[in-house]
Order: sequence, then structure tokens, then C-alpha cells
Amino acid sequence: MGHAGVVTTEPLPLLPHPDPLYAGLASVARQEAGRFAERNLRVRRSAVVHAVRMVPWVAGLTLPAPACGQGWSGAGGGELHPVAESVNCGHCLASAQARAAAAAGDLGSQPPLPFPAS
Ligand SMILES: [Zn+2]
Repeated sequence: MGHAGVVTTEPLPLLPHPDPLYAGLASVARQEAGRFAERNLRVRRSAVVHAVRMVPWVAGLTLPAPACGQGWSGAGGGELHPVAESVNCGHCLASAQARAAAAAGDLGSQPPLPFPAS
């Protein structure tokens, strides 16, 4: 006793996704979803704040995107920024689906979507 020359290693868990590319994509999807949790969304170079909706991406994964379906230049989430500002996109505000999605992601820490005050 006292002689521990062999260090046992913990058994590596079997990963459900052996494809490293998928693992990377899934990691990105989780990270992006976390970034936009309880946040609205702004597309780069735009003053418009959109609601967030998860949309199909690749390999069965989803990514946050403007709830109104507006496209954005670039294929990555780097073009999209989470913001705590209120939604001011008319399409998002007018879209019941978008509002439902926004409400579903609202855990009570955000005020309800305000309508534009004229
Ligand atoms: Zn929008």
C-alpha cells in the first residue's frame, strides 16, 4: 500500500453524436439560444428590434432569428445581437405567431411588448 503507480482514468462517456461537426453545430445552437434567452434581437446595421423565434437551421438544430422572418446578410449568428430593448419591428408586433413566441420565451422578467405610442 502507498504505492500508487497506476492512475486510473475515469471511463469516457459514450457521446450520442460521434460526428464532431454535429457536436460543434449543436454547441453553437445551444450557445446562440442562450444568448437570446429572454432577449429581443437586433440585426446588424439596423435600428429595428425584432422579437426572437427559433427557426430550423441545419441537422435538425434551431437558431434564434427575427420572429417576423426577416432575412439578414450572413449565415452566422454573428449578424444578430441580443438586446434588452423593446420590440419596435412592425412586422413582429403584427405577427401573432411572433408575439406568441416572444411570450413563450418570457419568464416574467420582461415587460409586455409595448405598442408604439404616437
Ligand atoms: Zn421583425
